[in-house]
Amino acid sequence: MERNYRLLWELGELAKRREEAFRHLEHCRLCGQECGVNRLAGEVGICRSDARLLVSSYGPHFGEEPPLVGRGGSGTIFFTRCNLRCVFCQNWDISHQDRGLETTPEELAGMMLALQHRGCHNIKIL
Ligand code: SF4
Repeated sequence: MERNYRLLWELGELAKRREEAFRHLEHCRLCGQECGVNRLAGEVGICRSDARLLVSSYGPHFGEEPPLVGRGGSGTIFFTRCNLRCVFCQNWDISHQDRGLETTPEELAGMMLALQHRGCHNIKIL
């Protein structure tokens, strides 16, 4: 089965989307907080994230609804930090205590492929 992301890569669409995504970081309004900070220059907004990628953990997740989990699990990658300030956050150590490792885009892609090879039915980032 041909994966959609391969088709997007072959068409050059992935490179265009990457450039556009990075452009958004110059005056970040990627979420409803609309901080307008330049994350490429190291500024941080309410989420306290600059342009670096921090990952707390990844693996098959079985705590979702059965149609999402199937037999192989839902491939879940937990990013560090969060743009919300929920009082009852169940992932406080990840979202607000900055527990995570700096990760390159290549390493992130490797995590996604590893989840795919482990039989996960989907990939999601939290
Ligand atoms: S909270 Fe973070 S992602 Fe949201 S607008 Fe501010 S800097 Fe951007």
